[in-house]
Amino acid sequence: MTQKLYEGKAKIVWATENPDEVAQQFKDDATAFDGKKKGQIVRKGVRNARISAILFRLLEENGIATQLLDQIFDDTLLCRKLEMFPVEVVVRNFAAGSICKRLGFEEGAPLKAPLLEFFLKDDSLSDPLITDAHIAELGLVSGGELDEIKRLALKVNSVLTGFFAERGVMLVDFKLEFGKDSAGNIVLGDEISPDTCRFWDANTKKKLDKDRFRRDLGDVEEAYAEMLKRVEK
Ligand code: UDP
Repeated sequence: MTQKLYEGKAKIVWATENPDEVAQQFKDDATAFDGKKKGQIVRKGVRNARISAILFRLLEENGIATQLLDQIFDDTLLCRKLEMFPVEVVVRNFAAGSICKRLGFEEGAPLKAPLLEFFLKDDSLSDPLITDAHIAELGLVSGGELDEIKRLALKVNSVLTGFFAERGVMLVDFKLEFGKDSAGNIVLGDEISPDTCRFWDANTKKKLDKDRFRRDLGDVEEAYAEMLKRVEK
């Protein structure tokens, strides 16, 4: 970990001695609403690194290729280097967040089937919702690759939905990012954590994710700690 390759809102990507590997360091910094709200969540970096490592390992065990190689520090994961697609893939089981504003769903409304949405990763455009046609027009992902990404995203959803149900957590929605390795395989990258998922306690419906920060609901650190505890169970 010598040279900083990239610093994002919640992570720093470091080069390693191996050109095919990078180290992803998870930060306590938190942003919301297009970066307009900024703050820190105490111990978020180490908790998200651990949660993401456990979930990526679970997915590997279920036949989904991920970027994760090893957890090398409390807040840092060693990862395969990928060429990332500039697309965020959102999977929704229940309505929450932007789909409520966009289409008038009531928060918590169950969806008939897992719903996939794509967003263009472009801060200058505020990450707009895009369709398959936009993805093709912009040449972001080839048709075959998009089919594979959809299949993988739905498989991730079915593995995670079951895992969290056993731990008393509703997986409301989450965001994935995929990339290609040097051999051209499509691999799951980035992170899966309370920063990138909506988790609700199955009994009380208490939010256990970044919405506590976004909406100033209090108990933010406690929610991340609770999710780590349930994931480690
Ligand atoms: N999400 C994310 N990064 C983003 C946008 C969304 O990780 O840049 C996650 C978010 O935490 C939620 C899901 O994707 O679990 C769906 O987010 P939504 O489209 O509802 O947007 P938001 O309400 O966060 O603006």
